[in-house]
Amino acid sequence: MKEIILCKYGEIVLKGANKKYFEDMLCREMKKRAKSYGSFDIYRAQSTIYIEALDEAADIDGMFEAARRVFGIVTVARAAVCEKNMDAIAETVRNYIPAFLKNSRTFKVESKRSDKSFTLDSMEISREIGGVILGACNNIRVDVHNPDVTVKVEIREFGAYVSAGVSKGAGGMPVGSNGRGLLLLSGGIDSPVAGYMLAKRGVKLEAVHFESFPYTSERAKEKVLDLARLVAVYAGDINVHIVSLTHIQEELVKHCEEDYFTLLLRRYMMAIAERIAKQRDCGALITGESVGQVASQTMQALGVTDSAVSIPVFRPCIGLDKEEIVQISRKINTFETSILPYEDCCTVFTPKHPKTRPDLEKVLVQERKLDFDALVEEALGTLYTEHIVAEY
Ligand code: ATP
Ligand code: MG
Repeated sequence: MKEIILCKYGEIVLKGANKKYFEDMLCREMKKRAKSYGSFDIYRAQSTIYIEALDEAADIDGMFEAARRVFGIVTVARAAVCEKNMDAIAETVRNYIPAFLKNSRTFKVESKRSDKSFTLDSMEISREIGGVILGACNNIRVDVHNPDVTVKVEIREFGAYVSAGVSKGAGGMPVGSNGRGLLLLSGGIDSPVAGYMLAKRGVKLEAVHFESFPYTSERAKEKVLDLARLVAVYAGDINVHIVSLTHIQEELVKHCEEDYFTLLLRRYMMAIAERIAKQRDCGALITGESVGQVASQTMQALGVTDSAVSIPVFRPCIGLDKEEIVQISRKINTFETSILPYEDCCTVFTPKHPKTRPDLEKVLVQERKLDFDALVEEALGTLYTEHIVAEY
């Protein structure tokens, strides 16, 4: 018996002239992932991507889970394929379906006929296959309103497909369909989640990480690269640009009022990130703040931070509680890495009394004590790039 994976994408994002473009993108994403799981034939028809194992060695369980992480895919189902006649379908249902019903008490059959030349209509197919299942399984009954399991029979172009149970896909839009963004990636919980959320909306990610060696360690940087690897499982390959803020921080400590350190540092981060974004063709910066979470994330502080740049800053966590952000980070498997206790450049030289309602004019008075542009330029001179290859 041949088993395949059927991936359906959201119709809404696939309207009109863009449809083929999106579909090709989704197929490419599937093909990239399939490489890790063996030989598969991947093709599309009728708003579905079909993934078919080409030999016994192909890891269909692994591929199924990988397909669920592709943005733009709404549902993923496994199905057995057979010839388009009722005998073959009944035989397949008898062999394939009982395993899915082992722990269930009720089921219903839903049929769909996109090949209208098929002899029975949907109702007739459902009725007949329902009978086959009742004959093949003990202690099970039909419940058309609230079944434990829905068995699906679809008569499609290439054959008949029998499935039981669909799983949710990753949703969103195909990565790359909505431009490129530069993620400011720290070692914390929030910024990997922010990156995931924008990748989900189709934004291809690049990342910048600021270090402050020797105040921050090599291990802190490794942790950030590990986080980038975990985000890449969803978002695809990520270039992580690493920039040293050491000299800027030392200059801030020497010349500026302590209460303003964090705000000033954040303005440097944004300005440097904006320069990288322009070089790398990224149309927005992405950060992980949530309003009110810490002193530098009050509305006024965010205003001061943003006024250092002129490109949009996307903050998808802005309205989420910490608990909600943690929930997403657990789901995408970044949480355990994020909580490893290494220092971040923001946690060295932190003011005892940071300004929570900063006044931009006063911040600028402090900022003008240093040559902002020259320090940005110098920091950019320390940039080097780690290319993270996605391991699906
Ligand atoms: P996170 O959990 O993402 O570190 P946080 O709650 O610790 O966030 P801050 O330290 O104020 O918040 O940082 C706010 C945002 O600034 C981060 O979400 C991230 O986007 C960016 N950021 C902070 N530190 C760095 C860094 N060292 N390198 C790159 N970006 C950073
Ligand atoms: Mg942080």
